[in-house]
Amino acid sequence: MMFDVLIIGLGCAGYTAAIYSARYKLNTFIVGVEDGGLGLTAAEVGNWPGIIDITGPDLMENFKKHALSFENVRHKIARVTKIEKIDGGFRLLFDDGETVEGKTVIFAMGSNKRHLGIPGEKEFSGKGVTYCATCDAFFYKGRDVAVIGGGDSAVEGAAIAAQVAKKVYLVHRRNEFRAEPYWVDRVKARENVVFVLENQLTEVLGTTKVTGVKLAKPFEGSDTLTVDGVFIEVGSDPATMIPKQIGCEVDAKGFLKVDAAQRTSVAGVFGAWDLTNASNYFAQFVTAAGEGSVAANSAFSYLNTAGAGKGYMAGG
Ligand SMILES: Cc1cc2nc3c(=O)[nH]c(=O)nc-3n(C[C@H](O)[C@H](O)[C@H](O)COP(=O)(O)OP(=O)(O)OC[C@H]3O[C@@H](n4cnc5c(N)ncnc54)[C@H](O)[C@@H]3O)c2cc1C
Repeated sequence: MMFDVLIIGLGCAGYTAAIYSARYKLNTFIVGVEDGGLGLTAAEVGNWPGIIDITGPDLMENFKKHALSFENVRHKIARVTKIEKIDGGFRLLFDDGETVEGKTVIFAMGSNKRHLGIPGEKEFSGKGVTYCATCDAFFYKGRDVAVIGGGDSAVEGAAIAAQVAKKVYLVHRRNEFRAEPYWVDRVKARENVVFVLENQLTEVLGTTKVTGVKLAKPFEGSDTLTVDGVFIEVGSDPATMIPKQIGCEVDAKGFLKVDAAQRTSVAGVFGAWDLTNASNYFAQFVTAAGEGSVAANSAFSYLNTAGAGKGYMAGG
């Protein structure tokens, strides 16, 4: 069977695209490695319009239920390992050996967590080093941990970790935070958060598991912090490996280039946040959902109108 739309990504952008695509009566296939995507790591979501307070996992469960309530949406859990152009569309290859074909594709694969690349990081990954403070802080009840970074994930992660850990060191290479002021205020209000600013990790220390971290500059007279857990939250990179396989252009920062209609440089292929260069790089649920809706609308137009055959490069 040839689907009308293949959507890669089971996060906010992908599920929104699926809801719109289904309502356009397009035969829709949606696939992802993990149901819910990055939204699963958001402990509290206070800026999804119309709902004052909801957890990320609950919000994403609502997205999934909504999208899968349509009969013309097929859902699969798998990793896409390859995409190829075929006559009249595209073929996706999955890590379980299966394939699927469709006339259009919407890439909604989000981003991959960045690593520090310091000694000990890889060795102790899963043995005290993790990349999601809000997901894993729970396991460090009554213990000392370090959160690394200065953006939303790091500062929210430190605030959440501080609810269970004995002490949280928030290590940031600058003196100011990029994070939302709401979360900066929350973290500053916690007495058990210690700010280690204008400093960086040079090594993760341990034996069979993490016992501490080494700092570039001494803090309170020592160049090591004794901790049981290290949460590395230093940002993420757009997941553009698959789009590049069919020649989709990326911008200087590595994000998938799309125009205002979410069209990539390849005809019949669209992109929706977190991996695109749209929405002024503002990585939020509302921008992901907005881009997902526009991408589905553009796929619908492409399949039905003179837009067919044109990516943004063709000026269509
Ligand atoms: C800790 C934290 C808190 C946050 N809090 C908020 C908040 O309060 N408010 C807000 O608006 N935003 C918040 N955000 C941002 C928000 O979560 C993201 O902007 C949003 O979830 C991005 O959605 P997405 O659909 O683009 O990508 P994702 O949710 O990352 O989804 C990507 C999907 O693609 C799949 N995928 C990737 N590669 C492949 C592949 N090769 N094959 C198959 N599938 C693949 C993944 O499995 C996943 O299903 C927060 C983020 C973090 C980290």
